[in-house]
Amino acid sequence: MVGASLAGLMTSLALARAGWQVTVLERAGARRSSSAALAVDPPDLVRLLGQEASATVLPHLAHDAADVSGGLPVTWQALHSGLQAAAAEHSGIRLHHHSPVVEVGQDARQAWAATNTGAVHVGDLLVGADGYRSLVRAAVAPDRPDARFAGYVLWLGVADEQGLGSVRWPTGLDIRSSGGHLLLGYPLPAPDGLPTVGSRRLGWAWYDASRNGLLRRIGAVEGSVVQHSLRETDIPEETYAELAAGARQHWPAPWSTAIIDSIERRAVTATPISEYLPDRLVAGRLVLVGDAAHVPTPMTGSGFAASLADAEALGRATAATDAHEVPVALLEYEQDRLQPARSLVKSGQSFSRSFAGR
Ligand SMILES: Cc1cc2nc3c(=O)[nH]c(=O)nc-3n(C[C@H](O)[C@H](O)[C@H](O)COP(=O)(O)OP(=O)(O)OC[C@H]3O[C@@H](n4cnc5c(N)ncnc54)[C@H](O)[C@@H]3O)c2cc1C
Repeated sequence: MVGASLAGLMTSLALARAGWQVTVLERAGARRSSSAALAVDPPDLVRLLGQEASATVLPHLAHDAADVSGGLPVTWQALHSGLQAAAAEHSGIRLHHHSPVVEVGQDARQAWAATNTGAVHVGDLLVGADGYRSLVRAAVAPDRPDARFAGYVLWLGVADEQGLGSVRWPTGLDIRSSGGHLLLGYPLPAPDGLPTVGSRRLGWAWYDASRNGLLRRIGAVEGSVVQHSLRETDIPEETYAELAAGARQHWPAPWSTAIIDSIERRAVTATPISEYLPDRLVAGRLVLVGDAAHVPTPMTGSGFAASLADAEALGRATAATDAHEVPVALLEYEQDRLQPARSLVKSGQSFSRSFAGR
């Protein structure tokens, strides 16, 4: 498995449940952070992971998940730490952090991945869960390896209730549009997962198609390919000032207050949005899941659910499979997942075309 983010961890757990020994190679360290939030349905996780692993994952989401029934999101971080704990506990999974894969390959009998230290890991199949800039995708679909820039950026932040003064607390996801901009605002519990008044948080995601010049100037987008997201320190001071003015102009309280608070703390990140419409998910013993397989705009709100469906379908297709049957089992997985993934990406592309004015 290349990649130990949400898709990689869920797929590792599904494969281990199907009886495989899984080696996971992740370029990042074990501690991760993200301001993103996702809608999660706990029964889906229980179906995928089984009772034992879900008993480890769900307490990480407990208080967030209670809110999901009311339509609220859970934090990416809570979900990631829960899945990582479940994978670390599983005897069938070996997690290697700080292990960037630099090359993958296969022959008729096996697949392999080489890391930057020269270590080569060999197995019956190799799963690419390595996200929108997937290295494994380049081996599966060499004719069209890259996701394409969708023409807009997503500014993201989370503000603490303490820093906001007295604001009217929202009850659920709030979607606003103004002057060609779009905002998703959502209440989140305190970092310990409890909905303690005074310690809660407000998350926000601001879709903005007016910054493409900046993204190209700083090299975040080159040609039609997104090169990287922007961390807090990558955002120029004048852009912070423009965002603060834009927040006052476009968004009502409490969102304007939350955004300005994030800007004043320089706690804003930006993700130029990519899309990838797959023609294939499999080549021989190589297989793609999650954003490596298909990249819908986050506006679909379904990237996570699609990754979960991939994990489930791959576990099902490869259960009780002998090594020599793996390529056939992977084609079964592709048969199951390719059309739903294409439909999802296409639905997002309609939004992107109208939002980015292309
Ligand atoms: C800003 C943003 C907001 C989103 N909002 C939503 C939402 O509201 N709802 C929703 O359902 N979905 C949303 N999504 C999508 C959702 O987060 C993803 O679809 C889902 O988490 C699956 O991601 P992934 O694990 O496939 O990829 P990633 O999270 O990109 O993980 C890829 C992993 O592979 C590792 N990796 C990459 N290359 C290598 C290498 N060469 N060697 C080793 N490791 C490597 C990376 O370090 C990373 O850990 C959003 C996405 C973004 C970017």
